[in-house]
Amino acid sequence: MSYYRRLPVYLLIDCSESMAGDGFTAVNQGLAAMIGQLRGNPMALESAFISLITFASSAQQVVPLTDILKFQMPRLKLGSGTSLGAGLRLWLECMDRELVQTTAQQKGDYKPICFLLTDGEPTDEWERVADQVRTTVVGKKANVIALACGPDVDINKLRRITETVLVIKDTEPASFSEFFKWVSASVSTASQKIEGAGERGLGLPNLPDNVQVAQAGDGRGAPDPDRYIFIHARCVKNRGFYILRYGKVGHGQGRNAIYQAVAAHRVDDFEFDQTAQGKMNLQISADNLQDAAPCPYCQNPVWAMCGNGHVHCCPLAAGTLSLTCPWCNKTDRYGEGSFEVGRGIG
Ligand SMILES: [Zn+2]
Ligand SMILES: [Zn+2]
Repeated sequence: MSYYRRLPVYLLIDCSESMAGDGFTAVNQGLAAMIGQLRGNPMALESAFISLITFASSAQQVVPLTDILKFQMPRLKLGSGTSLGAGLRLWLECMDRELVQTTAQQKGDYKPICFLLTDGEPTDEWERVADQVRTTVVGKKANVIALACGPDVDINKLRRITETVLVIKDTEPASFSEFFKWVSASVSTASQKIEGAGERGLGLPNLPDNVQVAQAGDGRGAPDPDRYIFIHARCVKNRGFYILRYGKVGHGQGRNAIYQAVAAHRVDDFEFDQTAQGKMNLQISADNLQDAAPCPYCQNPVWAMCGNGHVHCCPLAAGTLSLTCPWCNKTDRYGEGSFEVGRGIG
């Protein structure tokens, strides 16, 4: 029996709600394009196997380790939370289960490469597994490359996992597309080198312009974990789900923080927490939120909250009107007032 040694490639993708927007669409497209590029490379085609793990409120192995020809690109779902710890633990479990170890009878898999892509602050317990990865896995059992998506990611947290931390300078779709081209070139390079030169260090191709290696002295202070807040909303006309993003202005903390509307992101696939029914545990006063981004489905200029605490788009900024909530179908008269609104955890 002939057996080709596999080059396992694990992609760990942050699908937290803070990723919502054009950047996340670009991640989906970039992944699909990457698979297409790898299919065009005979060496990669022969050895590279890809697995996709996502993390938001929990972690899931969306695609098990699969050869490139059979790999089907799924639609990635966003969710609330950044369960980085759960993502790393699941990755270690998957490697334990899926990798072929070298024995006296057979040569096992090549050393896997893991690309970890995240934009946010972990919302679960992640430090212990990060230390485990850094001390027992990185360089020994796998090569791990972390990509900080956007300029506000806390580099020091990623550096706790691996010394190879890259920063994508902006979250423009073109930057993600360049990054995934680079991942595909890295996998192609790795699949060639391992055949010819044994298992020396991972030689990576030149980075695209908008991606740089995080330097040890990049001692930027830890970013404010509350710099954005997210509100889950539905369109009152077509029930489409969207996420309102507000960004902090000024230096107020806690109840004194003021947020300005940044964007309303249309979200086609979202992992709803079944127990929450569209309600959130964290609250913020609507008085702390300035302006509104229009509904991405119907362009209604503002949003409103029903008596059950659901947020939806609304045609008027002032006055009283009757609307039916697209979450709970309750029809009510809406007026102006101060209220607390639920927010996601990022
Ligand atoms: Zn709408
Ligand atoms: Zn409602």
